[in-house]
Amino acid sequence: MGDLLAGKNMIVMGVANERSIAWSIAQSLAGQGARLAFTYESERVEGRVRKLAETIPGSLIVPCNVTVDEEIDKLAATLKEEFDVLHGIVHSIAFAKSEDLAGTFVDTSREGFALANDISVYSLVAVAQRLAPLMTEGGAITTMTYMGADRVMRNYNVMGVAKAGLQAAVRYLANDLGPQQIRVNAISAGPIRTLAAKGISDFNSILKQVEEKAPLRKTTETAEVGDTAMFLLSHLSRGITGEVIYVDGGYNIVGA
Ligand code: NAD
Repeated sequence: MGDLLAGKNMIVMGVANERSIAWSIAQSLAGQGARLAFTYESERVEGRVRKLAETIPGSLIVPCNVTVDEEIDKLAATLKEEFDVLHGIVHSIAFAKSEDLAGTFVDTSREGFALANDISVYSLVAVAQRLAPLMTEGGAITTMTYMGADRVMRNYNVMGVAKAGLQAAVRYLANDLGPQQIRVNAISAGPIRTLAAKGISDFNSILKQVEEKAPLRKTTETAEVGDTAMFLLSHLSRGITGEVIYVDGGYNIVGA
């Protein structure tokens, strides 16, 4: 426990269950005294998100499907009313159809491409657009990416292209919002067994390869990502914006 984020209001988007990276980030933020709001995608996950969020006293819980502009508008209005000032945004959201996360990228449909990019990339823009005006004291936005943005990873396909777009969006948003002292960064996490990861074919062999080849000889733990996000959302990282920070046990530096 510490007080690095005491007096800071932050929103965590992307908790689905206790394995979600966003949940680990929330715990790191709460551990440093942040006041949190959580969003949930739909009624399908509401119960689970509520149960988790209620373990952090004082948390707000708000619905927000990021494909619906009106829901993001409503979220902004609720945060304005409840928090007035917002200091941090965690965007830990992605989706692609399972058929687009297997086989070959060349077979991606127009619809599958649009859906993956809408939910996994444009949502960051849509959220920043509506919530940055609440960050009147400056702030930080952190999103989640993966090495499949930079290199071809088997079965990652359309999500690799989406993550490349997301990382570019981080740089453009960082440049746009920098004058308001709002920083925008991404964490590139190593593979972690979560609900989203279940959609990626042959995920076990990806984990095994990381365990064997990463300099730290282990797979990434959500708490490692949580603490890095906490750093990126705190004043400790005040000179950092537009960056992609790897939290992957060093796997990305290793050659064949
Ligand atoms: P997760 O399934 O727990 O989280 C994904 C979240 O996206 C869920 O909470 C889901 O409800 C939300 N979501 C999907 N569509 C949405 C919509 N339309 N509106 C609102 N929310 C929506 O899995 P995770 O692994 O914690 O994923 C979080 C982020 O981390 C994703 O961006 C993912 O690509 C990224 N990431 C994951 C790994 C990994 O190996 N698990 C590695 C690197 C990056």
